[in-house]
Amino acid sequence: MSERHASSDAALSTTSAVANRVSVLLPLPLGGAYDYRLPEEVALAPGDFVVVPLGSREVIGVVWDSELGEIADAKLKPIVEKLDAPPLSAELRRFIEWVAQYTMTPLGAVLRMAMSVPEALQPPRPMLAWAITEAGRDTIERADMRELTPARRRLLEAARDAPPMSTKELARLGGCGTGVVLALEPLGWLEKVPVSARREFELPDWRHRGPTLSPEQAEAAGALMATVKRGEFSVTLVDGVTGSGKTEVYFQAIAAALEAGRQALVLLPEIALSVQFLDRFARRFGVRPAEWHSDLSQAERRHTWRGVAEGRIPVVVGARSALFLPFPKLGVIVVDEEHDLSYKQEDGVIYHARDMGVVRGSLSRLPVVLVSATPSLETVVNVEQGRYRRLHLPERHAGAALPEVRVIDMRRQRLERQRFLAAPLVSALDATLQAGEQAMLFLNRRGYAPLTLCRNCGHRFQCSNCTAWLVEHRFVRELQCHHCGHLEKMPEFCPACGAAGTLAACGPGVERLAEEVSARFPQARLAVVASDTLIGPRAVAELVRGVEGHSIDVLIGTQVMAKGHHFPLLTLVGVVDADLGLSGGDLRAAERTFQLLHQVAGRAGRAERPGQVFLQTYMPDHAVIRALAANDRDRFLETEAEERRRHGWPPFGRLAALILSGPDDETVDFAGRALTRGAPHVRGVEVLGPAPAPLAVLRGWHRRRFLVKAERGVHVQAVVRAWLGPIKLPSSVRLQVDIDPYSFL
Ligand code: ADP
Ligand code: ZN
Repeated sequence: MSERHASSDAALSTTSAVANRVSVLLPLPLGGAYDYRLPEEVALAPGDFVVVPLGSREVIGVVWDSELGEIADAKLKPIVEKLDAPPLSAELRRFIEWVAQYTMTPLGAVLRMAMSVPEALQPPRPMLAWAITEAGRDTIERADMRELTPARRRLLEAARDAPPMSTKELARLGGCGTGVVLALEPLGWLEKVPVSARREFELPDWRHRGPTLSPEQAEAAGALMATVKRGEFSVTLVDGVTGSGKTEVYFQAIAAALEAGRQALVLLPEIALSVQFLDRFARRFGVRPAEWHSDLSQAERRHTWRGVAEGRIPVVVGARSALFLPFPKLGVIVVDEEHDLSYKQEDGVIYHARDMGVVRGSLSRLPVVLVSATPSLETVVNVEQGRYRRLHLPERHAGAALPEVRVIDMRRQRLERQRFLAAPLVSALDATLQAGEQAMLFLNRRGYAPLTLCRNCGHRFQCSNCTAWLVEHRFVRELQCHHCGHLEKMPEFCPACGAAGTLAACGPGVERLAEEVSARFPQARLAVVASDTLIGPRAVAELVRGVEGHSIDVLIGTQVMAKGHHFPLLTLVGVVDADLGLSGGDLRAAERTFQLLHQVAGRAGRAERPGQVFLQTYMPDHAVIRALAANDRDRFLETEAEERRRHGWPPFGRLAALILSGPDDETVDFAGRALTRGAPHVRGVEVLGPAPAPLAVLRGWHRRRFLVKAERGVHVQAVVRAWLGPIKLPSSVRLQVDIDPYSFL
């Protein structure tokens, strides 16, 4: 074992009374660890990965420092083998325990997130994988488009830029079928090569110089670097307007961690969509960082997990799950766009990656940096109460002006039939295109129309599994449920009254908006961007290139497009329905809408050319719209904070949601009544519900919600645990606990 592998824990003493057994935690949704017999000549320490029998299978687990059980020796099964992998550190074990306690999930379920790549623990098997050939390279370099279908080009580019990978993985990265991969072998463009067990990683170079920072940026960067050098737990908010150089500033914190010989973790929302970020990192540090997200190939996951565990990968940029990677010498955690909702994992282990990032920082005694132009109220309150420090970047870099925001009062606009863009936005679009600049139209609705109804009988198309309308996707002639994925062909006759040609689309989705823009500006080159049209990092890279290279004039998209992109020629942003997020009515609706629209608006005019933003709204007096128009974030936050404080909502109070669901309505109700009878009567705790969830039926399951609302000082988990302890639920009913819920559906 190399020094790196040495665990800081003392080996389990072989002289103790229970020297012959160890406790092993398995990555399964079980409450605690199991005891196993230790073969005589084997020494194990907590954190070691071992193979153990479980029923008729063998599974990998981790030696855990929990109390041993009382099972008779004779009944103990033996450890099969110890794996040659760096042990799970005590820090990470404590973090796993903490997360399990906090989120009220079984310890093993959390461990599973830290062992997401079991293959990385096994001796690597030699395998064959696809690699690009010289002929393949030539083909792309010549970029002979006649030979190359777009799918083939994406594939070759993927094969060029990524390490060798399996057929399925390459097809996925290239965004095409496996047939396309196989077809490239006879052409001599791809070949099968053996892949080595261990990959070397190029190291980012912290000596590489970044841009010269402005005085404000330099001050913030200096403060961060000092924090990283001290290497103690602290939380710092880098709060600056879009384009103020927040990324440049936290790059300095990463450089400081690297200089100190430590690792750095950067969490980004939607990492798979962040090509620009990766390129930028490469410009700054000479190499791309390691990535961690669901779009990686299995081989990449294995290499990365192992490389991180062995300390050979200094920087990881990842989605929330990267928080559970086994860094042995982490020096800083950066959470970019800390307010972003995608940090909340909503299924499996329900946790908030920003909050758990702070926990990991505190357990591992290292600095955490939160970054945002629109920090969450939670974070703002933590700053006000002195728990977090704030570094402020008040201005856009190089004097770029913030865009001017104009409100279009839709109550005074006369829209033409089946049109959704008001006259002022249309003329701004016209002027922008005339000037050779680019525009972005934002509408947070996929598909063609959010609702389809029959003009003859009024029939509305609803999902058969969910409380939701079916959304028309006209390009593929389908009706889709955005909750369960249910698909139906668009019928020719109304299924209720049988009339033909009476089905009407109600309201716009991005596809319908594209139709309007094409009709008004036939010359404009459009790109429709939504999570169902933009799949995989290649497609994103292609889109980004298209905008940067100005082969696209108008971007029309949902929030997947709102994220950190920097497009110098993009000078107009039109928000087609600014009210969309406000109607949902959950406690963060206003905050969320403000953050999203502010971020969307921030795409405009990021370079020399000034930007303008139009908000189409029926509620011009709403606090969110006014704050956006006046660019007065802080006043908005104050009002919002007052409102929440008055009602005891987070962050001034605590929430836990309990969601009951099951296939049978009555059984779920029965379970709901059982919970109601046992509901806690504790000071400072209020139980709301059971109420049918807004999505009362989801994927055919009936759902009821309870909300536990508590004062800040209350230990909510303890209250919920005491409540649920004695209750036996029918086996067909599932109960999910969501601590600090963000979704109220
Ligand atoms: P933010 O993260 O706050 O949105 P960025 O760090 O992305 O801001 O900066 C916006 C743009 O300005 C980027 O293209 C960045 O490279 C550039 N930039 C920021 N600070 C500087 C600087 N000091 N010198 C040169 N370019 C800078
Ligand atoms: Zn559905």
